[in-house]
Amino acid sequence: MKSLTDLVSVLPGVGPKKAQYLNQLGIYDINNLLNYFPFRYENLQIKPINEIKDQEKVILKGKVALEPRLNFFGRKKNILNLRLLLDNDVVPVSFFNQPWLKKRIQIGEEILVYGKFNLVKKSLSGIKLLSRYEKFNSMQPIYSTNKNISQKEIVKLIKLAFEEYKDLIHNLVPSKIIEKYKLLNLIDVIRWMHFPRTKQETFLALRTAKFNEFFLFQMKLQSIKKLDFNHGIQIDYDEHTVKKFINHLPFQLTGSQTKVVKEILFDMHDSKQMNRLLQGDVGSGKTIVAATAIYAAITSGYQVALMVPTEVLAEQHANKLAKLFEPLGINVALLTGNTKPKPKISLLDGLVNGDIDLLIGTHALIQEKVIYNNLGLIIIDEQHRFGVNQRKQLRNKGKSPNVLSMTATPIPRTLAITAYGEMDVSIIDELPKGRMPIKTTWIRNNQFKSILPFVYERLQKHEQIYIVTPLIEDSDAVNMRNAEQIYQQFADIFQPKYKVGILHGKMKDAEKNLVMNSFKHNDFQILVSTTVIEVGVDVSNATVMIIFDAEHFGLAQLHQLRGRVGRGNNQSYCILVADPKNELGAKRMNVMVDNNNGFIISQKDLELRGPGDVIGNKQSGIPQFKVGDPVSDVIMLNIAQQEAIQIVSTKNWENIKENKELASFIQTSLSEKILD
Ligand code: ADP
Ligand code: MG
Repeated sequence: MKSLTDLVSVLPGVGPKKAQYLNQLGIYDINNLLNYFPFRYENLQIKPINEIKDQEKVILKGKVALEPRLNFFGRKKNILNLRLLLDNDVVPVSFFNQPWLKKRIQIGEEILVYGKFNLVKKSLSGIKLLSRYEKFNSMQPIYSTNKNISQKEIVKLIKLAFEEYKDLIHNLVPSKIIEKYKLLNLIDVIRWMHFPRTKQETFLALRTAKFNEFFLFQMKLQSIKKLDFNHGIQIDYDEHTVKKFINHLPFQLTGSQTKVVKEILFDMHDSKQMNRLLQGDVGSGKTIVAATAIYAAITSGYQVALMVPTEVLAEQHANKLAKLFEPLGINVALLTGNTKPKPKISLLDGLVNGDIDLLIGTHALIQEKVIYNNLGLIIIDEQHRFGVNQRKQLRNKGKSPNVLSMTATPIPRTLAITAYGEMDVSIIDELPKGRMPIKTTWIRNNQFKSILPFVYERLQKHEQIYIVTPLIEDSDAVNMRNAEQIYQQFADIFQPKYKVGILHGKMKDAEKNLVMNSFKHNDFQILVSTTVIEVGVDVSNATVMIIFDAEHFGLAQLHQLRGRVGRGNNQSYCILVADPKNELGAKRMNVMVDNNNGFIISQKDLELRGPGDVIGNKQSGIPQFKVGDPVSDVIMLNIAQQEAIQIVSTKNWENIKENKELASFIQTSLSEKILD
């Protein structure tokens, strides 16, 4: 029996190789193929000749005035010239390297030619001859393809799949909602996204496609929220004890910190399982907020797990929190992929029997052998670095433990609430008092030498320096050479008086730790690194951050990197070395120079994005959508969320006949880890 989940290889002409190429585009089954939407359309029109702009792609319709002439030149090159008689004009048309067209074009015949218009010469460089009988679509879909699959092939496959499978396409969105918002049926969305006849059709199809995408996303989030976050452990902490802890901190909590601590403690005490996201700029003091929640849980008799994305960060957190908690009689342990078998055995023992109160580590915390005695609170730092399923696995280590997720890449509140959907959001929006803002400058590559005296001066003051080069995807080799070149350059200048170290993604975790620790101990003064130092690393003696090729980073990431300095009492500096290719790039650099607030930077980053530019999203942890844009379509995202909440909160919604397709779709996609 046919099904939309049939693999693409069922289509004629799709062998193992072709299937593999399609997989590279994320197309595995018929459903994927039908939902592989064009990223833009070329709007083709037969236009009066005086309305055509230079280099515009158009269709001309006219009579062939002279016998077409084929000329050969160079090696294997040829050009077919003809003249097209329009109402009042004669337009020269030339086809490059399409000699076979000569036979198909007769003098006196009326033809349609698609091509690019040259206004000065009033000529057309022909791209395609549309056959006399061809019904041309004025809207030509353009798909993103790879070098192994052509536009033509994609179009052909989609056409085939649509013809074969269209009877199986049913709405997932309930018809009430379709009517309410005047949406299209799914079959029309797919038909018009791929084969539109007019601009209006593409517009309508895209509108519904976006809604569908947001709606299904929200249905998944809301289902998770309902299924997974029901009744939770009620942490009955002693208010007086927690107050005493806060009062004994070496500083006073900021207003913002106090507010979010309240929100978190309230959730922990509530019978509902906490699922809260704590957003706060780098240096806003999330750790101490987390520590307060940890203290409340542990003094109420529960264990706490703190999961972080990197080894370096895990170790750092463990050191910090052990210092804070061990004098208070709290047992802190560290578990990473590098924990040796022997200590690991006793650690796991201590965890099962409840001796260990706080376990800090990487995703090693979700290994099967790790069994907790009484897990009451989970904290996930840099939560967007973990998949939904990893987070779920950690939750399953306890009986509905409370969950606090943290992120240092702030996004605007309205967006956070809808994009994260299943979580409540707390925001720290002020920095501790007395912080000296980091001074940021932007220089061009050719000005690089001019900063060396400044670097030298900082070194003489016994301060330390970070130097970062971008990690460009798929070009690790190039990137490593860059880091190494820069390392060499600085070593030549400053050694032996000051030492230079290097850190990059190809190193083993243990090696990275070693390098980080010796930098922390000031064994060397300049650290050249790829972005592996990005998160959370804390060396308070480092005061200068130099970022090469800064235009290759997202603003959120630049802000994160910059946050590695300014952690101590000395004035800190950030130097961006960049030659941006265009005005937008220059603007982005200036945003960094002019702003120190992560929320403002992320807002500007979103404003400055080009359409469809999702790089910024990836870095900020905003979920990725195919057609919808969570920023510019935030209102629609909001509506989709409201509707999803409405459905999921209806008793037995899965069993209502009209929701059957939707319910089974959500069920499979949740079990298929699609959210990862
Ligand atoms: P982040 O939010 O980036 O994790 P941290 O928790 O590492 O920030 O805090 C940054 C630094 O600020 C730490 O050294 C911490 O001790 C300090 N800090 C946190 N809260 C306050 C406060 N209310 N007043 C002064 N210093 C604070
Ligand atoms: Mg926290």
